Amino acid sequence: MSTATLPPPTQLSLPVMNEPKPSSAPREFRNVRREVTADAIAVLTFDRPESAANIFDRATLEELNAHLDALERDASVRGVVLASAKPAIFIAGADLHSLSTAPMNALREMVEFGQRVFSRLAALPVPTAAAIHGAALGGGFEVCLACDFRFATPDKATKLGLPEVQLGILPAWGGSTRLPRLIGLPKALDLILAGKTVVAKQALKLGMVDDLVPREKLLAAALAKVAKAGRKLHRAVPFAVKATNNVVAGNLVSMLTQPKLFKKTRGHYPAVLKALEVVTLGVGRSEERSLELEADAICQLAQTEAAKNLIRVFFLQERAKKLGFVAAEVTRRTVASEGEVRLLTSAATKVERATVIGAGVMGGGIAQWLAARGVSVLLRDINADAVARGMAGVGKLFADGVKRHTFTPVEARAAMDRISPVVELPSLRRADVIIEAAVERMDLKKDIFRKLEQLAGPETILATNTSALSVTELADSLCAPERVVGVHFFNPVHRMQLVEVIHTPRTDAEVVRRALRFVQQVGKLPVLVKDSPGFVVNRVLMPYLVEAARLFECGADTGEIDEAMLDFGMPMGPLRLVDEVGTDVSMHVAETLASHYHRRMAVPEVLARLVKGGQLGRKSGEGFYLHRGKEAAPSEDASRFVKDDSTANLDRVDLELRMVLLMVNEAARCVEEGIVSGPEDVDFAMIMGAGFAPFRGGPLRHTDTVGVANLVREMNRLVDDGETRFEPCALLKDLATKDGKLYPEKGVLI
Ligand code: NAD
Repeated sequence: MSTATLPPPTQLSLPVMNEPKPSSAPREFRNVRREVTADAIAVLTFDRPESAANIFDRATLEELNAHLDALERDASVRGVVLASAKPAIFIAGADLHSLSTAPMNALREMVEFGQRVFSRLAALPVPTAAAIHGAALGGGFEVCLACDFRFATPDKATKLGLPEVQLGILPAWGGSTRLPRLIGLPKALDLILAGKTVVAKQALKLGMVDDLVPREKLLAAALAKVAKAGRKLHRAVPFAVKATNNVVAGNLVSMLTQPKLFKKTRGHYPAVLKALEVVTLGVGRSEERSLELEADAICQLAQTEAAKNLIRVFFLQERAKKLGFVAAEVTRRTVASEGEVRLLTSAATKVERATVIGAGVMGGGIAQWLAARGVSVLLRDINADAVARGMAGVGKLFADGVKRHTFTPVEARAAMDRISPVVELPSLRRADVIIEAAVERMDLKKDIFRKLEQLAGPETILATNTSALSVTELADSLCAPERVVGVHFFNPVHRMQLVEVIHTPRTDAEVVRRALRFVQQVGKLPVLVKDSPGFVVNRVLMPYLVEAARLFECGADTGEIDEAMLDFGMPMGPLRLVDEVGTDVSMHVAETLASHYHRRMAVPEVLARLVKGGQLGRKSGEGFYLHRGKEAAPSEDASRFVKDDSTANLDRVDLELRMVLLMVNEAARCVEEGIVSGPEDVDFAMIMGAGFAPFRGGPLRHTDTVGVANLVREMNRLVDDGETRFEPCALLKDLATKDGKLYPEKGVLI
């Protein structure tokens, strides 16, 4: 290779360098460069061009392989260090696009090629070390596992792990083989089966890395270690690792763990069970045999519907991170009301100051989230007590975050100090965004917005967090409706990644773009929705929850209703969810939606009766369930509200079918009415906002999998029995007659 492709040494912050030695590879090195220090240590720096991230695609693997060719031949090299030139990523993982689109034989070839390359690295006769700063995930961590030593920075950006099972596959470039050999079977299983990613401090504790070193000293530390090691080390295997890594221990762990995993996953996540099998079998066998097991397993798993759907969800998340991104920066002149001329650039549109109106569950949660991401927040409520309660809630969120190691105590304090609680609103001219999260009443929200309109600056975005009220009606009550958007965070704010960004026919396009960028800036994932009752998530979720209540009212058993949907893959049964949300809140949203969608969402009496009886769900200790701490048992008292026994004999399959059909139908209506850009928006919103079984890829992908015509036939059967709420929407009917699908047959994964 010509030396011309290497960057100037200053860019590498390496100690004194020799002239880089040429590699024999007859090709250009674009992703991995090799240089050799004065101490004859080769540094392989991953630096994918025009990208903030390194990934292991075919080209990168080939380049690494070619460097290994040269290193194997070069007897003068005394050690090898892997490094990354990226500011926040070591290597983010394998190229999922090629992995997920490759035909079977190409996939096997790519897996085996990766294994060979990493095994060559592991077999180099000189010591090797990975200098890890930023994310080292999947293949990016597997290459580190093939090194003799691993050093990591203690920075927040540094995260290590093997998250493959979350994508329906398993670590197959040596991760399932080398991690248990490094840290022992129990700890490796804990990480691999959950697809866990850990921060550097935890990685050190678990033995995944040898030491933590500040970033400025990272490369020097790795270089010093391999220089000192002198020759290839054969480390003694610690007793704890030896004791757990043999055929008997592997079989035993597998036998004990398998039933628990099956119960937990209800068989929906084949990758988890397969990973258990491969790791526990592989640990008592040769490395070569274990690698074969990995390769066989990933080829099987990649074909499953679960893997395809989980990888699609990953791509949808990536898409949301870039949604609405405008490459050409917008620069425009705006004359503010008092006459000064302001230049607005996209840099100026980065949100630095926000105001949150209402310090309740949502307002407090939003204020906490924004402050933790560096935004200064004014948090307003109606009186000192309400504001104090809100701040106490925010304080608790930060304290919990410190316990979970999300923040250091110093970071939590600094973020808390960014929130200013107020009762009287000052001028809000400098606020970039105002988010209203007061109680769900249109008259009250209109009053609030009228005041906000006067206090806010001309460029301030006016956003509402309403769950179900009309953003259009709210906007239309103002002088400048073009400034109003819905920015619908979900509860609890710190856990739910989705935010629905809702625009009305009159919202200014630049306001929509800025709202999207704001959501992305604070690390949430937006979905863009045209204003319509319930937007997407509540609109699709509500008929499902209402149907669960109706089934209960007509005699179906509480446990059976919930178990049916847990079997389907929902994270929580619908009646339990109503209790968690509150029967009162659920009824309020359901009634709002019923006023628009009428019989499709007619609210069963049982909800009103529970609310009237003070059975508000978890918060009052009783609803459909009797709640005792974390435990919940079906409430005997609620059974007083059972009206008849017409659904008492339905089995779980029938119960599931009814609840799923209503979700599917409403999801298809969202596409039919064009409130989203396509089926992937609805699926993404339902998975991220309502926990819809991710391995099914969302309600509309599920519809395609089962077959539109099959589901429409079931809907028609129920309509014939007099259950008119199951009437299929026009889009589904049309597709059913053509044997069509909601997603186009061909094209990229999403
Ligand atoms: P909440 O009852 O916990 O809090 C509302 C707060 O608003 C109270 O502290 C109240 O004192 C305050 N408030 C009332 N009038 C006010 C005014 N004029 N100015 C300032 N503050 C005022 O309610 P919440 O659950 O936080 O819901 C807030 C909004 O978010 C609602 O529109 C709701 O529909 C929506 N939302 C709720 C959830 C949820 O699960 N709770 C989820 C998404 C969206």
